[in-house]
Amino acid sequence: MIRHDAELGAANTLGLACRAERFAALESLAEARQVLAEARRHGWPVSVLGGGSNLILRPWLPGLVVQADFADWWLEPLDADTVRVHVEAGMNWHSLVEALAARELWGTENLALIPGRVGAAPIQNIGAYGVELADLLESVHLLYLDDGRETVLSREECAFAYRDSVFKHALHGRVLITRLVLRLSTRPAPRLGYGDLAARLGPTPSASEVVAAVSRVRREKLPDPAVLGNAGSFFKNPVVAAERARRLLAEYPGMPHFPLADGSVKLAAGWLIDQCGLKGLREGRVGVHDRQALVLVHHGGASAEELLALARRVADTVAERFGVTLEREPRLLGRALP
Ligand SMILES: Cc1cc2nc3c(=O)[nH]c(=O)nc-3n(C[C@H](O)[C@H](O)[C@H](O)COP(=O)(O)OP(=O)(O)OC[C@H]3O[C@@H](n4cnc5c(N)ncnc54)[C@H](O)[C@@H]3O)c2cc1C
Repeated sequence: MIRHDAELGAANTLGLACRAERFAALESLAEARQVLAEARRHGWPVSVLGGGSNLILRPWLPGLVVQADFADWWLEPLDADTVRVHVEAGMNWHSLVEALAARELWGTENLALIPGRVGAAPIQNIGAYGVELADLLESVHLLYLDDGRETVLSREECAFAYRDSVFKHALHGRVLITRLVLRLSTRPAPRLGYGDLAARLGPTPSASEVVAAVSRVRREKLPDPAVLGNAGSFFKNPVVAAERARRLLAEYPGMPHFPLADGSVKLAAGWLIDQCGLKGLREGRVGVHDRQALVLVHHGGASAEELLALARRVADTVAERFGVTLEREPRLLGRALP
């Protein structure tokens, strides 16, 4: 069913006030086909909303906003060690992680407590604690918004990279992801090399114990959007050429840095922001979180523009001091009120 002039304020973790000209919660794939065909008939532009945890919403979303609510999932055993998991777009990501861990299926544990829904996970190739969705994903089922065509993309066709995929480029704004297919292991495969996970767990933890440990670390580090509006990391960790990293390290020997396979070096955006003395900065109704400089927060009543102005100030300060460009992670959607 299509609702008109729908309030979406509660539908984004930053808590920015937003109205959609039209909004449809899609209960099934059949309803998705039918509603999107109607949008095509009327020429409405379509935007897709997941859990709203990686979005900066401007006050007005014209056309039609759809949200996939269908959320079935099922297992397809492949052999003694491997299981294929089919999961529809509307399922909450963390609920999926918990359900898989409870069955001792290994692969998603380190991605525990990432907010949002399954359908959005491939967009920026969600990642945490040394694991990315791309490590587990086999294929993505989707529906093209412009002609209703349905297809399945292999992992290779998704062109995954750090916080990146084909869905941010050639397919940007062009598809509704309807289902993911993951490949998980029935053999214990804990990956505890990141942060202090190993220190928090015994030598042979269960998958659910890993999920619980990752969740605890995340709760300690990140503000809960239900309490303080935020979209998680506001900036991607910048990747710089080896030569620039070498020069920066000569000046800042303590700088966290992670050499990548292609010779470039990933830096920690939070560290760079912190070094500029911006942690805890408050500008009106928005600010930089006081424990995690990578997270911009909304104290209530602000607009997307206020948040973007703060983001520009943070990025400009880092560029001036380190000569490193910070790129925004959450996507911007909508426009000023008509
Ligand atoms: C506290 C906090 C912590 C976070 N931690 C992490 C982290 O550790 N790692 C990480 O990678 N991310 C993290 N994030 C970001 C966010 O959780 C992920 O990007 C998540 O996948 C977004 O899901 P969503 O359903 O909320 O998507 P939304 O924010 O609603 O949408 C994000 C983008 O995906 C598109 N989209 C959504 N659903 C679909 C669909 N079915 N088909 C096509 N396009 C779709 C939207 O149009 C939009 O462009 C964090 C966010 C918060 C608030």
